[in-house]
Amino acid sequence: MRAAIQQETGRDKLEVLDDVEAVGFGPGRVRIRIRATGLCHSDLSAMNGVLPQPTPFVPGHEGAGEILDVGDGVTGLRPGDRVLMCWLPACGDCPSCKRGQTHLCLAGFMNAGTPNFKRPGGDVFGFAGTGTFAEEVVVAANCAVPIPDDVPYEIAALIGCGVTTGLGAALNTAEVAAASSVAVLGCGGVGISVIQGARACGAAQIVAVDPVATRREAALRFGATEAVAPEELADAKARITGGEGFDYVFEVVGKSATARTAYETTRRGGTLCVVGAGAMDDIFQVNMFELFFDEKRILPSLYGGGDVLRSYERAIALWRAGRIDLEGLITHRVRLGGVNDALDQMRSGTALRTCIEI
Ligand SMILES: [Zn+2]
Ligand SMILES: [Zn+2]
Repeated sequence: MRAAIQQETGRDKLEVLDDVEAVGFGPGRVRIRIRATGLCHSDLSAMNGVLPQPTPFVPGHEGAGEILDVGDGVTGLRPGDRVLMCWLPACGDCPSCKRGQTHLCLAGFMNAGTPNFKRPGGDVFGFAGTGTFAEEVVVAANCAVPIPDDVPYEIAALIGCGVTTGLGAALNTAEVAAASSVAVLGCGGVGISVIQGARACGAAQIVAVDPVATRREAALRFGATEAVAPEELADAKARITGGEGFDYVFEVVGKSATARTAYETTRRGGTLCVVGAGAMDDIFQVNMFELFFDEKRILPSLYGGGDVLRSYERAIALWRAGRIDLEGLITHRVRLGGVNDALDQMRSGTALRTCIEI
């Protein structure tokens, strides 16, 4: 079957090959025919080495498709079921799961060092234990979450990562209060989802901050009340908050420099919510006096920061009710053979989400 493969870290082009096989099918596991996958910024970060990932590997972790086959012992899933891919499944048994923080369950990562694919040339890994830039993948049954019939594959795929990450940051982690002021630094697919989440929570002001004009324009369509370039942020803070700072500031870039700007843009006693996935050697600094004296809450948000299955349901409910726009997030569509064009669009900063139909 066909899959797009990153041969080594640092290369900027994937090779689309047709001699790939999904491996590991057996008890407790399912085989999925991927139908749609989103291109998430984390895929680029794995390709360029910002996020750790063994090579060669198949990128992609935001996918949806149909079940082809279920292994022994799998209950609740049958061939033909439509599912979305959860790259961080909860085991239900570990200390994190038992205390209700299922998004911190690491059970799904235990297999991260196990190859998901093979080729005549050897083993191939899947990014984050999945690898959705492929016609088929084999994953643990709890990575396959059934979706209602009215949710198209391309929408389900986005809910599998970017939408859940952004909405959850606003709804679960920051718990944005009605009538509050919000700034969102970084307005790709995840940042736009934060904006939609903040709007659903009833924020009064939502300021989108991004260096790319097309993203600022998009942010306004998705509920931002104002959109500014990074160099205009200090002025917006002074004008909108009287210089005090915003009640909530979301960092959706994954860099210490933007996190520091976000910290300084947050009011005393306000909330800095860190959503961006950054590098291990990029250090965020806060001095001990400001940390204590300004009492700003620094809240990281991983994969939406709440019960993942509940977050999926909530995204679907808001989408069905017309309270969030998910179709509009898809700014480009390509087939698997056009994946390198999709990568270029993502790097150019113009794409919110690219949907790869497989
Ligand atoms: Zn667990
Ligand atoms: Zn992602």
